[in-house]
Amino acid sequence: MTKPRLKIIPLGGLSEIGKNMMVMEYEDDIIIIDAGLMFPGQEMLGIDLVIPDISYLLERREKIRGIVITHGHEDHIGALPYLLPQLGAPIYATKLTQGLIRVKLKERKALDGAQLNVVPPGGEVTLGKFHVELYPVCHSIPDAVGLIISTPVGTIVHSGDFKLDYTPVSGQPTNLSRLAQLGAQGVLLLLSDSTYAELPGYTSSERVVSETMDHVMADAPGRVIVATFSSLISRIQQVIDAAAKHQRRVFIIGRSMSDTSRMALELGYLTAPDGTLGQPDELRGMPHNKIAIVTTGSQGEPTSALVRMANRDHRQVHILRGDTVVISATPIPGNEALINRTADNLFKQGAQVLYDKVAPVHVHGHGSQEELKLLLNLVKPRFFMPIHGEYRHLSLHAKLAEAVGIPKDNIFVLEDGNVLELGPQGSKITSKIASGNVYVDGLSVGDVGGVVLRDRRMLSRDGMVVVIIAVSKQTGKLMGRPDIVSRGFVDTREFKNMINESRDLVARMLDHSGDRPAEWSFINTKVRDTLSKFYYEQTKRRPMILPFMVKV
Ligand SMILES: [Zn+2]
Ligand SMILES: [Zn+2]
Repeated sequence: MTKPRLKIIPLGGLSEIGKNMMVMEYEDDIIIIDAGLMFPGQEMLGIDLVIPDISYLLERREKIRGIVITHGHEDHIGALPYLLPQLGAPIYATKLTQGLIRVKLKERKALDGAQLNVVPPGGEVTLGKFHVELYPVCHSIPDAVGLIISTPVGTIVHSGDFKLDYTPVSGQPTNLSRLAQLGAQGVLLLLSDSTYAELPGYTSSERVVSETMDHVMADAPGRVIVATFSSLISRIQQVIDAAAKHQRRVFIIGRSMSDTSRMALELGYLTAPDGTLGQPDELRGMPHNKIAIVTTGSQGEPTSALVRMANRDHRQVHILRGDTVVISATPIPGNEALINRTADNLFKQGAQVLYDKVAPVHVHGHGSQEELKLLLNLVKPRFFMPIHGEYRHLSLHAKLAEAVGIPKDNIFVLEDGNVLELGPQGSKITSKIASGNVYVDGLSVGDVGGVVLRDRRMLSRDGMVVVIIAVSKQTGKLMGRPDIVSRGFVDTREFKNMINESRDLVARMLDHSGDRPAEWSFINTKVRDTLSKFYYEQTKRRPMILPFMVKV
């Protein structure tokens, strides 16, 4: 009889950045680690966000003992509002993470019935045959943890997102001594963050950013406006500290930014000396060199406060000559163009703009190569599996593991849906389960499939042609020539003749379809085929063609 084995199944976050989700299964018990979302790529037109496919879990719902969350970033908690109602499992997270989850669930009206359990950093929880210890790690958000998971086949360490900043702004440095202790006892498998596996050396300390903020607050002739992620609570703290030191009042502007800050202040993860924080209506009449503003828009998001300020479209703040704007974030791949346009706009309005290429205004929250190697050396796992990253990040991380002495055969580079099985006889990748992307489009989850995306791509590339066919209510016969309206296809003035010709073409075709009124589905297909062929011959484009029948 074969011994039961432990299955490790990534549902998201491997071979991609974002939507992190990991399943661990042993006999009748399943635990889930993180449930994140991913922002859509440029080819996913009109999609708001992407979440993991959880069909594997839905078929085994009664086995799920709990969802453990490593920290409060979107790529780790963002899918919860969509998945939690389907999974119905209790959540375990630290206090701040739990607060951020609560904000998210409430926003999406998914808070009712949610079982949120707070576990402090260093705390433990038993979930079926899994025993999970949440150990503190340093990341770009306070209260982040990694996981030490005891299972019937051995100990597993999941790094979460981490770096080894010895002088963090808030929160604790990564608990290295606990990891070293584990390494001495023997660790079966290490799962470790690969996001910055491309970067040699060490990630700079947050200290560097504090120093920049200090100079900016001291020297800026007018207002200082800092744009960052609303979840980057330690960055908000750095702004508050530097502003307070130079007698500036801090105004937090933008809904998500104020919601998160209020929650972090209430829970004690953000502190401000009395009188430092101001209300937006006090801005009027204050000397500009006494003002610091923290806001959203570091990714150039069109509806964010910073972009509206730059376009003179914000209710409270417009960018003025003499302002200093600090964009304190790394561009998420794909957002560079938007960010550059925002910076251009800000310069045009007369602002001084500081961003990561011109000043040390941001450090990221993930370990670079030396830190990754250090973790491998401390934990000394028997098996290693790089997580959180595109395929190249995972491959480079695997190479680092080889370099520190882990045998190649003991390193597993998985993709989403691969199943890694661990047992007394060893471990191997055994199968692949259903996994992939679920698209969230406005309020609907999962309704948008490949066909819809193909249509949107076609529309964005070649435009659309609507053919309006009027038929008589009495006889069902064609009344006059059809009308043709196009959008995004060709310049209708320049191609007037071609459009006219295509109207004739449809009229002739419909005439030939005989005396008796034809089936609409038949006409529909015929019109589409005829025009598609005609337009392609003329323009080498394939617009989407939509025939409409009106009875007159
Ligand atoms: Zn993170
Ligand atoms: Zn992450």
